[in-house]
Amino acid sequence: MDFDYTDKVKDLQGRVTAFMQDYVIPSEEPISTWFAENRDEWGAAPMMDDLKAEAKKQGLWNLFLPEDSRGAGLSNLEYAPLAEITGWSPTIGPEALNCSAPDTGNMEILSRYGSPEQQEEWLKPLLAGDIRSCFSMTEPAVASSDANNIALRIEDDGDSWVLNGRKWWSSSALRRETKVALVMGVTDPEAEVGKRHSLVCVPIDAPGLTILRSTTVFGFDDRHEGGHGVLDYVDVRVPKSALLGPRGGGFAVAQSRLGPGRIHHCMRLIGMAERAVAMMTERAKTRVTWGEPVADQGVFQTWLADARIQINAARLVVLNAAFKMDTIGNKEARHEIAAAKIMVPQVARDVIDRAIQTFGGAGISSDFPLAYLYVTARYLQVADGPDEVHRRSLARAELKRVPLLKVM
Ligand SMILES: Cc1cc2nc3c(=O)[nH]c(=O)nc-3n(C[C@H](O)[C@H](O)[C@H](O)COP(=O)(O)OP(=O)(O)OC[C@H]3O[C@@H](n4cnc5c(N)ncnc54)[C@H](O)[C@@H]3O)c2cc1C
Repeated sequence: MDFDYTDKVKDLQGRVTAFMQDYVIPSEEPISTWFAENRDEWGAAPMMDDLKAEAKKQGLWNLFLPEDSRGAGLSNLEYAPLAEITGWSPTIGPEALNCSAPDTGNMEILSRYGSPEQQEEWLKPLLAGDIRSCFSMTEPAVASSDANNIALRIEDDGDSWVLNGRKWWSSSALRRETKVALVMGVTDPEAEVGKRHSLVCVPIDAPGLTILRSTTVFGFDDRHEGGHGVLDYVDVRVPKSALLGPRGGGFAVAQSRLGPGRIHHCMRLIGMAERAVAMMTERAKTRVTWGEPVADQGVFQTWLADARIQINAARLVVLNAAFKMDTIGNKEARHEIAAAKIMVPQVARDVIDRAIQTFGGAGISSDFPLAYLYVTARYLQVADGPDEVHRRSLARAELKRVPLLKVM
């Protein structure tokens, strides 16, 4: 396995780094970026349109989307180090390059399974960064980490589908640019397990679809992301052509979105952890206790050394998963993706936690980004499937593995 970056990737790394340094990091001021205090209701960061225009001009646009000529033509392995750099500023960087969740996953599905009409209506403006989208799968009433429990009903009614049910955690639903929800529900309750669910595209302003509120993330409203919508679907009617992918194929279609989505989060988490290390290092050099900079304390140096080991190991796990996705396919690489999904948020959380400790009270406050980075790493131990579910699938694969040597 050769994880050395190609010249093309090195060039892009330099350009993405310069873009982040010159445009994105300065856009974080004032601190309210992390709070969105001075933003329009549920809108993007105020400078986002300018950042997107600049990113497009520099050819730093849609860097994700392998296997599709509409993206930048990068493999997952090539995209990983670039997504990592955008993760240094997770509320601005990825969106500025049109590489943010949940749109990336939705674009992957639409590009792979969307009809020509769906691609024209939804994929084209998403790729152009003109609209945003949400993915509406999780439900408050059922344990949604087992997707078989998803209960929203999508009934076949003549030339329409009719949706009834409630969703929550539909990230980005409240963004003013969000125009479409990709909704998972039951079309075929009598079918065998795994073939009961389908996906449909629902315009966010469809009659009967009400956004009740947004849930918070440890108190952060995630306004930049468009919140996390609690959505009521009451007799929402969409045409038959709204079906995305095959009827009864909802799980398979969603899976093709979740694998890349998970690994993209891991790539960005490495960047968040790197930022935490950069911040804690600078801070420790300048804060003096009992006559010595904190950086000279053994305990701080242990934290720093451990952070470097953890991050480097996590990066290799991510690159390995990306490499496998490129070489054997997303489905076959699911165990490598699961391993990354378990390991990386935990590593990032640990590293950011130590950076918070280094900052003292400043780290707990939201005057610095560490608190927000921490909650992001923490929630990613639940979002995209909780750790336990990924451990379950890894353990089941392990139980089937034939050992190299027979010793029992
Ligand atoms: C910030 C954020 C953004 C999100 N964005 C989206 C989105 O855009 N669209 C969307 O549809 N969803 C989204 N989600 C929802 C997320 O995917 C779900 O919360 C997650 O899949 C878990 O489902 P649940 O909340 O129903 O938990 P439950 O299924 O109720 O599980 C609760 C707990 O049970 C335990 N558990 C579950 N299964 C097992 C097992 N096999 N073994 C042992 N323990 C187990 C785990 O500890 C788990 O955390 C988001 C969540 C968050 C926090």
